[in-house]
Amino acid sequence: MSFEGKVILITGASSGIGAATAEYLAKQDASLVLIGRNDEKLQKVVDSCLKSTNNVLKIIADVCIEADANRIIQGTISKFSKLNVLINSAGIIQSGSIETTTIEQYDRIFDVNVRALFRITQLCIPHLIATKGNIVNLSSVCGIRSFPNVLAYNMSKSAVDQFTNCVALELAEKGVRCNSVCPGVIKTELHKRGGMDDEAYERFLEHCKKTHALGRAGNVDEVAAAIAFLASDAASFITAVQLPVDGGRHAMCPR
Ligand code: NAD
Repeated sequence: MSFEGKVILITGASSGIGAATAEYLAKQDASLVLIGRNDEKLQKVVDSCLKSTNNVLKIIADVCIEADANRIIQGTISKFSKLNVLINSAGIIQSGSIETTTIEQYDRIFDVNVRALFRITQLCIPHLIATKGNIVNLSSVCGIRSFPNVLAYNMSKSAVDQFTNCVALELAEKGVRCNSVCPGVIKTELHKRGGMDDEAYERFLEHCKKTHALGRAGNVDEVAAAIAFLASDAASFITAVQLPVDGGRHAMCPR
């Protein structure tokens, strides 16, 4: 798989799945535009990618801010003059049920996971049409299955899947593909950022041995490989797909 000559924009690139995907694609000679808010953390990812590819553009930006979203696209086009792939990895999680989720939590989750993804994608579309490029969205097993106590997050990821399929159908005739990956539990900072302490997170990972058929939580590289496949020409006849990368979790039912 080679991405030589392809320009790939990744949001949420300073950590977790976004960072691992950047490093994975750098090794396949992609030209990368890496988006994050924390300059120091994003620079570490840039430095790591520069070991494999010469073409890396770092843009410090908050995907929820309209001026930043515009700056991301303008910066990409002024540096590389084109865009081949958009990978929407920026996202947040917070626990909460219908009885406990505040409307502020709901808004925050939808702002990052849905509204910003919608807006960044919208701004990229003319450039993706021009290259007959493609989009890979980070959904979740929570988008395709229902779990209690992560209500707003689950709803946001279902919205990502619906967005993926509608955009795929809308742009198919223009040669643009759009797919989602739906990871199970992957070891990143996501859950701790969402409020889980170290002890609870260890218990959660232990519990994953039972909730994932393959008997463990996943690693970021396993998701990066699936994203790279969907973004590549090897997936040229695949669009409107939600690809589980979850050790079989989506197929499991309690007995
Ligand atoms: P992560 O917290 O390491 O990565 C998310 C990134 O998004 C972070 O770098 C964060 O700073 C960034 N981000 C959040 N809000 C932002 C904003 N307003 N502007 C710019 N960047 C912003 O976690 P991760 O696990 O790598 O998550 C990546 C994606 O994968 C998310 O969409 C998440 O919902 C999804 N996902 C993760 C898991 C998992 O178990 N880790 C499972 C399923 C889906």
